[in-house]
Amino acid sequence: MKTLVLMWVLLPMLISFTASETYTLINATNLAKPGCPSRCGDVIVPYPFGIGINSNCSIGPGFDVYCNTSLDPPKASFTKASYTSIKLISDSTLRTSNSVASRCYLPNGTFSSGLRISMDFTNWPYTLSEVNKFTVIGCNDYAWLTSGSKSRNISTGCMVFCSTPEDVVGDQCSGNGCCQSSIPEDINYYRTRLRTMQKSGDMSNTRTFNPCTYAFVGEENTFKFNGATDLNDTSLNKKIEPNVPIVLDWAIGNLSCIEAKALDGFACQLNSKCVNSTRETRGYHCICDEGYEGNPYLSPGCQDINECKDKERFPCYGTCVNNGGNYTCKCKQGYSGDAKIQGGCRRKIPILRLSLGMGLGFLAILIGLSVLYFMAKKRKLVKLRENFFEQNGGVLLQDKLKTKGGVGIGSMKIFQVEELEEATKNYAEDRILGKGGNGIVYKGTLPDKCIVAIKKSQRLDQGQREQFINEMVILTQINHQNVVQLLGCCLETDVPLLVYEYVSNDTLDRHIHNQTSGLGRLSWKNRLRIAHESAGALAYLHTDARMSIIHRDVKSTNILLDDSYTAKIADFGASRLVPLGHDQVTTLVQGTLGYLDPEYFHTGQLTDKSDVYSFGVVLAELLTGKKPLSAERCLEERNLATYFLKAMKENKLLGILEHQVVNEATNEQLKATCDLACRCLNQLGENRPSMKEVTMELETLRKFHKHPWDGQDKYNEMSSIMVESEQVDLYNVPLIANSDTFGEYSSSSMGMKDVMLQVQNPR
Ligand code: AMP
Repeated sequence: MKTLVLMWVLLPMLISFTASETYTLINATNLAKPGCPSRCGDVIVPYPFGIGINSNCSIGPGFDVYCNTSLDPPKASFTKASYTSIKLISDSTLRTSNSVASRCYLPNGTFSSGLRISMDFTNWPYTLSEVNKFTVIGCNDYAWLTSGSKSRNISTGCMVFCSTPEDVVGDQCSGNGCCQSSIPEDINYYRTRLRTMQKSGDMSNTRTFNPCTYAFVGEENTFKFNGATDLNDTSLNKKIEPNVPIVLDWAIGNLSCIEAKALDGFACQLNSKCVNSTRETRGYHCICDEGYEGNPYLSPGCQDINECKDKERFPCYGTCVNNGGNYTCKCKQGYSGDAKIQGGCRRKIPILRLSLGMGLGFLAILIGLSVLYFMAKKRKLVKLRENFFEQNGGVLLQDKLKTKGGVGIGSMKIFQVEELEEATKNYAEDRILGKGGNGIVYKGTLPDKCIVAIKKSQRLDQGQREQFINEMVILTQINHQNVVQLLGCCLETDVPLLVYEYVSNDTLDRHIHNQTSGLGRLSWKNRLRIAHESAGALAYLHTDARMSIIHRDVKSTNILLDDSYTAKIADFGASRLVPLGHDQVTTLVQGTLGYLDPEYFHTGQLTDKSDVYSFGVVLAELLTGKKPLSAERCLEERNLATYFLKAMKENKLLGILEHQVVNEATNEQLKATCDLACRCLNQLGENRPSMKEVTMELETLRKFHKHPWDGQDKYNEMSSIMVESEQVDLYNVPLIANSDTFGEYSSSSMGMKDVMLQVQNPR
């Protein structure tokens, strides 16, 4: 049989704890094993404890409680013989009555006994809780405590000092009059002894205000030292014993939860959890899961708490729904918030109205922000366009136009960037008409369905920009039916844009040289007219325009043809204005190889005769159908101008003239045109005719064409043959009749016989 040795040297005073103390954790109802009493006097005895030694009401012998019902009120204790009474049983602790060791000095020099106390729970499921403290009260005395667990012995002690009552400060248990030390962990027995440090003779000094010394183990927080009053109290032990309990930890068995769970007889029932004891001797106890209550050791386990019925513990000011282990408490319909707090629910704003309000607010903010954004963007765009205008030479243009008397700009339209983007389908590839030296030309359709050509610079270096402006300034000065008309410009983009009348029928170059492209072959009549129109335009530029304008890049690619094959001079990017009174300017040599005036090339002196030279090359092209420069020809024939002159000189011209031209032109026309071309190609500018002279000669030649040669049978014969084989002329253009400028061309002056011979001996 397990032995319980519970020995109190001093008679313990049994103290009943008041109901207001916080130890009551479990309800008395249904806590004892069915059929067993659950109370002994004021003490509730829940299972695994049980009333009655070997009554089978507890979980095991160590948990039996002896209830002495002969006393009033009945007293609960560990055994029948035990003096110690059980005061309170809770989840993992148990509180018992206390015993205080005391030593009181009597006036006769002796002292009362009661110096030792011991307690032993070896082989019981109890250990001394750490919430206990070892306390000594007295002056110049000491006490010690020897204790131990199964595995070790531990001792601790406390000394108290004081000479006068003033040495002692109430409330402080720190050595003067009162001393406290901690209880070692996991001890299940202890013994205390009290001794004095005073010699018997000295005793009178302190004993006058401290007749007794006390030592006890008890719950720390329930004892409060009252200084000199306690030192002078000869019955302090009687006050401590009922009020300061000893706290014991208890646990079931000596296995951990995991180990116990694996074996039969595991104590924790449904809806409870097992908690390991922290004691050296191990063991466990059970507690109900959250939301459940009852005795976790008794079947069927802990029961769900119906929180909705216990408004005091679980307040709910809305709709309460109890669930297993918890509950929900929601605000009533139409309200929202925290229903567990009084006044926590607020009336809901109807979602529709709220979302409508929020939506409108959001929309207003959005609109406001967008307006601000677009305003800022527009301001930025305006600034950017201003910058571009300046950067693209808008100011330069304005200045130039001012110095030129401001002509032209009035008839010119200033286009919006967007207008031109839309017109060219954002500068689509398939809208490209051609690429020139200083930009790409796009075909565009304006909102009024007017078709235009839009020139957009590719690069934007200073020279490029100046060329654009130059072209614009020159074109604003010009109003001629054979010069491409500038309709307007746009300088607000990163590259300046020029808008021209659209000339639909490609370049003269393509009509002469690109026969494979499906273009019809140009008749001689048309060639002569085109030459005449082009010469007229150049003559106008040289003399009739407000200032003399030298084109500087006359070539067949810069002569455009419209639907009716009317010639239009284009690309004034390289052109120069020559101030009145000057007939030449010095410039950096610019032009196209094959067309470039050798004199200008060597001297850098630009005169209107440089354009005459280039025009001479165009005439040669019209006559021969050959390219101005061709690597396919032998070296000395590579340059058409030289080739043409050489052929002329060697009287082999007929050999290089285009077959169709020879067939279609009259001998006079041929000879005169070739002669004119040769004069235009003269190495010395001063020996070249002026463009005006060239225009007059061509005009005469065109008229001559209208009056065929008579009296030359052979020629007529050939002529009739030629007429048969002649392709139908693309169209007949009336002569630009100008009798003032019409020069005399007599048939006799043409040396026709020679030419005829050459015609009869084709290449
Ligand atoms: P440019 O930069 O002036 O030499 O022009 C380059 C090419 O664009 C020319 O060779 C033509 O094929 C074409 N082009 C220029 N201006 C016009 C226009 N006004 N109408 C039609 N095509 C043009």
